[in-house]
Amino acid sequence: MILDKFSLKGKVAIVTGSNTGLGQGICRAFSEAGALVAGVSRRPSAETAEMLGASFHNIIADLSTCGVIDGIIEETVKKFGRVDILVNNAGVIKRQDSIEFSEENWDSVLNVNLKTVFFLTQAVAKQFIKQGGGGKIINIASMLSYQGGVRVPSYTASKSAIRGITMTLANEWAKYGINVNGIAPGYMATNNTEALRQDGERSSDILARIPAGRWGTPADLEGAAVFLASEASDYVNGFTLAVDGGWLGR
Ligand code: NAP
Repeated sequence: MILDKFSLKGKVAIVTGSNTGLGQGICRAFSEAGALVAGVSRRPSAETAEMLGASFHNIIADLSTCGVIDGIIEETVKKFGRVDILVNNAGVIKRQDSIEFSEENWDSVLNVNLKTVFFLTQAVAKQFIKQGGGGKIINIASMLSYQGGVRVPSYTASKSAIRGITMTLANEWAKYGINVNGIAPGYMATNNTEALRQDGERSSDILARIPAGRWGTPADLEGAAVFLASEASDYVNGFTLAVDGGWLGR
């Protein structure tokens, strides 16, 4: 049955940024699809834990350094026995005019959004290879994987690079049965876009350009996330799928 191919029953997923926003929505969708979820967050994911019960385990880790990576995999394997899916969702954005943009705003964004993502992905891929059954990696990209944006140079650099390495890693790891894909959310109503939504002029400009006529929500991402984590997408590799209410096609 085709719907069985979308099931995540018996799968173990690591999702970063599990306490809020898009990451919380992905945790909920994976749990509903049958997966056990190790959610990584720097603050406790209390609300997510309450929603998901025994299918959820919270790992506390600050992803601004790579030192936490081995511990995340060890704790997941200790709790749930294996890893089948990784979603690199945690991310930060800093807004400042490019002419004044600080080194701190550059490094802090690149560390979380790109460096830790690459090395966590590498460590999870080693675990997949050790287990022998392949695996699924989903990188949360952005419209700024395709476009330039304004006042967010480090974010744009990180998200454009994420789309690039999604293709590189798919090229290298397809032979192990590992799929590496991305999801590029459009403009979604979460903490990430709080400042943008508070800016009346920017907010109405953005809304006017979204063909769907509304901001996206975490629920809008769930179908794409389950698809790319499941057997239904076994022949999809290296691609970043926009979930954007039509923004890129405009
Ligand atoms: P969000 O509500 O700000 O969530 C970001 C998540 O990343 C939070 O859980 C945050 O934890 C976590 N995080 C940030 N720095 C971290 C660190 N050093 N260690 C551990 N966790 C850290 O925004 P969101 O919209 O759900 O963002 C999720 C992803 O989607 C991000 O990669 C973002 O760039 C991407 N995205 C969002 C949009 C949008 O319109 N919202 C569009 C395109 C792409 P805290 O709560 O502790 O900060």
